[in-house]
Amino acid sequence: MSAPPILTELEPDALAETLAGLGAKPFHARQIYRWIYRRGVADFARMTDLSRDLRAKLERTFAIPTPAVTTRSESADGTVKFLLRLGDGREVESVFIPDTPAMTFCVSTQVGCAMRCGFCLTGRMGLLRNLTAGEIAAQVRVMAHDLDLAGRRFNIVLMGMGEPLHNYDETMKALRILAAECGLAVSPRRVTLSTVGVLPALERLAQEPLMPNLAVSLHATTEELRDRLVPVSRKYGLADLIAACRRFPLARRDRITFEYVLLRDVNDGVADARRLANLLRGIRSKVNVIPLNEAPGIPYRRPSDARIDRFAQTLADRHVTVSVRKSRGRDIRAACGQLIVEGARQAPGQRAAALLGSS
Ligand code: SAH
Repeated sequence: MSAPPILTELEPDALAETLAGLGAKPFHARQIYRWIYRRGVADFARMTDLSRDLRAKLERTFAIPTPAVTTRSESADGTVKFLLRLGDGREVESVFIPDTPAMTFCVSTQVGCAMRCGFCLTGRMGLLRNLTAGEIAAQVRVMAHDLDLAGRRFNIVLMGMGEPLHNYDETMKALRILAAECGLAVSPRRVTLSTVGVLPALERLAQEPLMPNLAVSLHATTEELRDRLVPVSRKYGLADLIAACRRFPLARRDRITFEYVLLRDVNDGVADARRLANLLRGIRSKVNVIPLNEAPGIPYRRPSDARIDRFAQTLADRHVTVSVRKSRGRDIRAACGQLIVEGARQAPGQRAAALLGSS
């Protein structure tokens, strides 16, 4: 017998169609979405505004897999990191950041990551697999209900484990599922997708009708250095990435965020800041400087506060809007670049995980 279809992989229209195929009324799709996403109910028996017959039929037809919270760590600063176990036993990390300034969920798009950026722990895992749209959306569903925030306004950043543009279709589908009015109704305007710059996918994103905000992980201002820090740059070079950003369609008040991990004596000089300001000239942008979160095995250091300030000031002097990302959740390894789910057996001290939005 083949596995039952997974209901949470269906967008509302597809669910309505599937229901019609079962002889049920399509409008039940909205009710089901409401139960699952707004009320956090993943059990058909409890969907009491559906008839008993329909509930029984749904039960026989569909599965609603819901990731289990295996570990929940709360930082002194209020950041909460969730280790979630998926249907096949793989684990991902997702993070809640209370005030950046809005409430933000940082979610993963892949188990591990193929990009292998030199300063990022997730890259050490390699890519184990893509997440499905339902699994990406489920991270928000599970965290929102755990924290009792399903009815509140929050932001989502795709800054957890994985490279969202390396799992394009499932990521965009997840955003449509999360945007559904009958569900959590998170407008793409409240979502930020962060990418190293997988160019063909970035071009696709530029055509999307529902577009999230864009953040680009830049980290370097010369081809040579970026090739070293962000290996995918050897394929999709810095100049081409900047050109694609220049072409990227932005709504009236929007800007592209450029993330720049600051590494001591590697990319943190005044000359780097000047080159960065020049590169971004003419692009509606802001720069988010992320002082490196150090970790064992990462061969880079965090610059001194004085150097961080000097870098930011050099940008500001050139009229670049700049912010320095506060590190959140470092005490629970929930900060940027710290998300890694390792085989507990291989590295018992190091289980934590993911990369982050508000570092
Ligand atoms: N793959 C996407 C999504 C991850 S976002 C991307 O790279 O944009 C996570 C952010 O944290 C990225 O900007 C990443 O470069 C940054 N990061 C990774 N490792 C880090 C570390 N050790 N310290 C600080 N930031 C890090």
